[in-house]
Amino acid sequence: MRRGSWRVRILIGLAIVAFAFVRRCSNQEENPYTGRTQNINMTAEQEIAIGLQSAPEMAQQHGGLYPDERMQALVDAVGNKLVQKSLARETPYPYEFHLLADDKTINAFALPGGQIFITYALFSQLNEPQLAGVLGHEIGHVIGRHSAERIAESNFWQTLATGASVGGDMGNLVAGIGQNTLLKNGRGDELESDELGVLFMIQSGYDPYEMIAVMEILKAAAGPNRVPEFQSTHPDPENRIDKIKEAIQQYSGR
Ligand SMILES: [Zn+2]
Repeated sequence: MRRGSWRVRILIGLAIVAFAFVRRCSNQEENPYTGRTQNINMTAEQEIAIGLQSAPEMAQQHGGLYPDERMQALVDAVGNKLVQKSLARETPYPYEFHLLADDKTINAFALPGGQIFITYALFSQLNEPQLAGVLGHEIGHVIGRHSAERIAESNFWQTLATGASVGGDMGNLVAGIGQNTLLKNGRGDELESDELGVLFMIQSGYDPYEMIAVMEILKAAAGPNRVPEFQSTHPDPENRIDKIKEAIQQYSGR
């Protein structure tokens, strides 16, 4: 009886694991803007809905929006210029750029579907081309569909962990592998966003070398001990600079 129940558990576990892999294969699609094949299990409309729904809470967590509308207008102008002059214009996302009141945390981020944020702490350290670099990078996260990809990836690993825990109490082990994979993907996301950011800067008439200046600013902001939030979720600026130089050469031949 006991041996029999083990067999059933393993079979159910294997079935769940097989289901996870089949679903992962059926979720594969090529991103028309980056040409990269990704696992996605939501539509652009769903991404936009998630972004719009989460945006007010995100703003609240960073002390709300920056009160001076002239500064917000500058962020809008640079963001909209990037969208209008680049391939972002052809994507289905309604881009919105929000200047956050937070003057302590150096950070910028994008929600799926086009909601983009930059803190005043980071904004106040940038000139216009550098602001374009940061916003271009964040538009890159949207077009690269990185959040949606992360959600699909996390669903896959959850299902796999469920299957493994039913089949043989290995859930923790598999969940561990899953988390590492998520982090590794995160790094690829950043490099892809840097590359897209460089492309958008060139297409919009900004000097792409200012993206390297952005990396230097992030590095300086980190200081000897302090790790700003932007950097904790973003890989070492030094490694990114080499890739940015490659992208500049690729897109502008300089
Ligand atoms: Zn990023």
